[in-house]
Amino acid sequence: GRGKVVVVGGGFGGATASKYLRMWSDGALDVTLVEPNAAFVSCPISNLVLEGAKQIADVTVSYDNLAKRHGVKVVKDSAVGIDLDKRVLKLASGDTLAYDRLVLSPGVEFLWDALPGLAKPGARDKVLHAWKAGPQTVALRQQLEAMPDGGVYALTIPLAPYRCPPGPYERACLVAHYFSRAKPKSKVLILDANEDVTSKAALFKKAWADRYNGIIDYRPRHSLTDVDAATGTLKFEFNDDIKADVLNVLPPQRAGDIAHNAGLTTANKRWCEVDWLTMESKAAKNVHILGDALQVAPLMPKSGHMANQHAKVAAAGIVALMSGREPNPLPIYNNTCYSFVSATEVVHVSSVHRYDAEKKTLLTVPGSGGLSDVASPLEGAYALGWANNIWADALA
Ligand code: FAD
Repeated sequence: GRGKVVVVGGGFGGATASKYLRMWSDGALDVTLVEPNAAFVSCPISNLVLEGAKQIADVTVSYDNLAKRHGVKVVKDSAVGIDLDKRVLKLASGDTLAYDRLVLSPGVEFLWDALPGLAKPGARDKVLHAWKAGPQTVALRQQLEAMPDGGVYALTIPLAPYRCPPGPYERACLVAHYFSRAKPKSKVLILDANEDVTSKAALFKKAWADRYNGIIDYRPRHSLTDVDAATGTLKFEFNDDIKADVLNVLPPQRAGDIAHNAGLTTANKRWCEVDWLTMESKAAKNVHILGDALQVAPLMPKSGHMANQHAKVAAAGIVALMSGREPNPLPIYNNTCYSFVSATEVVHVSSVHRYDAEKKTLLTVPGSGGLSDVASPLEGAYALGWANNIWADALA
């Protein structure tokens, strides 16, 4: 009969995989997507919602086309467990889904234990991450709007690897851009656990010096150990406490619970390792893992663009394996991350990653990719085009 593939998570990886599994099998595979949210909300472009240049509706896309155009069965539920031997996925509702192959793209979970003060009742409603786009994005925008002129917004960044390396620095630019036009006496304080800016460092530092001098204050080697939400205080391993009006804390991260609890986070108990030819888990047969949940290959970012590429390699690999063919022996992955330094001007970094059969990993292709020379409105247009295209590629 028809093969059954179940996909967990309708984000960049899972939505793309669902659609391409249906398309590339010419409808022969039965594909079920499990996702608790009613619609897809994009993290890319969500920093513009914090700036006020975009609304949350502008970064929200329906799942309807996956069902109507592509015949994906979209189930509004959460996966809570996997029986790897019997090949059955358990859902929060109590239902179960049998699979021949399972695709997991659950994104990241936060390591809240690292910040015990945020376990206090109400603390996590006050101190937001907005690192999963949706209600927290809207709530953080409201906090920024409510902050008096002359206030301080503090953004903490965990040690890499974390979701979207340039994302925090883009966010700092866009909050500073909002302050410069709406409350010019206010400050943006970046408290980074890393030694230095982890992505596009020279381009971001130029933007801060040229555009946000006196607004953005960047402080590296600030390793956050706790947060007191009641007094608005950040505590660090080696530095003095810092108080701010709006705290935006990005906790350290690992792969989503569904992968972690099934024992698939074999790298540092945080990230999942896969065979890059098919994205099949190194820890479980017939389970393919995509996106931010992965232990990345050298110089590969945790990005939506990358998750989209993982999804296509997995879809092609699964269709091949389920029709008794060999998967592509030399997949190539590419990535472009655009970052807004103002509401209209953008910089990018891009890379191409090719499978190395000897090392069994992906290596960047020498001479490929690169960085912007300067921020420009032309790149701003490309960035919005990129977003519209990738949303359509995954969901239209
Ligand atoms: P997600 O897209 O997060 O999808 C995971 C999905 O799984 C979610 O919908 C979740 O509800 C669902 N899920 C989780 N657990 C379960 C479960 N148990 N059962 C069912 N469903 C479940 N990337 C770029 O390429 N370009 C950018 O410009 C960019 N900008 C960014 C800006 C910000 C502010 C942030 C935070 C991120 C940005 N990213 C960007 C990164 C990008 O958002 C992520 O890399 C991407 O979302 C990863 O895709 P994913 O499929 O792994 O996870």
